[in-house]
Amino acid sequence: MSLFDKFEPTAKLLQSLLEASPRDPFSVKMDEMKGPTRAIVEGQEIVLAGTNNYLGLTYDEGAVEAAVEAVKESGTGTTGSRFANGTYSAHRQLEEDLAKFLGYKYCMVFSTGYQANLGAISALATAPHDVILIDADCHACIYDGCQLSGAETIRFRHNDPESLDKRLSRLGPEVKGKLVCLEGMYSMFGDVAPVKEFVEVAHKHGAYVLLDEAHSFGVFGENGQGVCEAEGVRDQVDFYTGTFSKSLASIGGFVASNHPQLEYLRFSSRPYMFTASPSPSNIAAASAALKRISSDNSMRENLWKNAKRIHEAFTQLGFETCAPVGPVIAVKLANKEQAFMAWNVLMEHGVYVNLAIPPGTPNATSILRLSVSAAHTDDDLDIVVSAYTALSQILSKQAQEA
Ligand code: PMP
Repeated sequence: MSLFDKFEPTAKLLQSLLEASPRDPFSVKMDEMKGPTRAIVEGQEIVLAGTNNYLGLTYDEGAVEAAVEAVKESGTGTTGSRFANGTYSAHRQLEEDLAKFLGYKYCMVFSTGYQANLGAISALATAPHDVILIDADCHACIYDGCQLSGAETIRFRHNDPESLDKRLSRLGPEVKGKLVCLEGMYSMFGDVAPVKEFVEVAHKHGAYVLLDEAHSFGVFGENGQGVCEAEGVRDQVDFYTGTFSKSLASIGGFVASNHPQLEYLRFSSRPYMFTASPSPSNIAAASAALKRISSDNSMRENLWKNAKRIHEAFTQLGFETCAPVGPVIAVKLANKEQAFMAWNVLMEHGVYVNLAIPPGTPNATSILRLSVSAAHTDDDLDIVVSAYTALSQILSKQAQEA
C-alpha cells in the first residue's frame, strides 16, 4: 500500500476525460489580463464569464490607486498575524467600515473568506457539548470549519427549513450550543436560501445562525447587504461571514455580528491567530471597493440587467438553468463527457465559464457555471450568447443523431 494509491481513481477519471478534451478545463492559464472581463488565453482573446467578479471592481480606478498607495506607504506584506504584529490601523478601519455598511456592531477581518468561516465556526462550536447543523450544499470551508471544531455535525437537506426543524427537535438537553450554518446564494447553481424561514426555525430552538454571504454580498438587497437584507432579517443573523475575493475584488474575509462575544474570537480562533494578516494592498483595495459599493448602486443595477439578458437568452435557446435569474447562471448537461465537450465548444467561441462535475457539484450534476459581471459590456454578452447558440445547435444535432 502506498500513500499515493488514493489518487488513482481521480487520476484515471481525469485521464479518460482529458483524452477526449482538446483543453484542460482545470488548468486554464490567463496569459494576459485585459480587464475585468477579458483575457488572452493561448493567443485568443476570451470573454471571462466564469469569475466571481460580480461588480467588476478588480480594475476600479480608486481601488487600484489605493492599493498602489498602500504598498508604497505600508509595504508589501505584514509578516505576521492579526494577533501579533499584523494588525495595522487599516485593518481596524475596514472592520469598522464593514460593520457600519452591514449594520452590525462588531467585525473581524481574516486573511481569506475560507479562514473566516473556518475560524468562526471552529471557535464558536466546540466538542463535546455543542452541535453544528449544516446545509448539505454548504461550501468546503464550512465543512472544514466543522471538522476543525470537532463538534458533532449534522447535515440538513439543502434549502429545507423543515428538515432543519426536524433535526433540531431531535437534540437532547445535553446539547449546549447549537450553530446553524447556511449560505445566502449558493455558488454552483446560484440558488438562494430561504433565510427568513431558517432564522425563524433556528431561533425557535435556541440555535444561532451563521450565514455566509460570500456570493451575495454587494449583489442582493437594496443596499447590497446580501440575501438577509433582501429577506428583511439582516439584524437577526447572528454571524455574517463574507469574503473580499468576489464583489470586493481583493483577498480577505470577515465575520460580523451584534454579539459582543465575537471579540473573544481574536483570542480563540486559530485561523485568525496563526496566519499572516491580509497585505496592506489587499486591505486598501477592499476598502476602496466597499466605499464604491456604499455610494453607487449602478454596478448592482448593471449586474442584474446583464443577468436578465443572459437568463432570457439561455431560456430561449432551450437550456435548463439551475435557478431563477441571478448572477450565477448554471446550465445542466447530460453527463461529464457532454459537459467537457460543451466547455470546449464555448472556449473555441471565445467564452470561458466554469466546468463543474461530480463529486464537486450538488446532486451529482454536470454543469457549466456562468457568472455575470456588472462590467460585462453588451459586446461581451453578444459573444456569450452567440457561443451558447453554437453550443445549442451542436447539442440538438447530437440529440437527433442519437
Ligand atoms: N464561502 C463560499 C460560499 C465560497 O464560495 C468561497 C470561495 N469561493 C469562500 C467562502 C471562500 O472565500 P475566499 O476565496 O475568500 O477564501
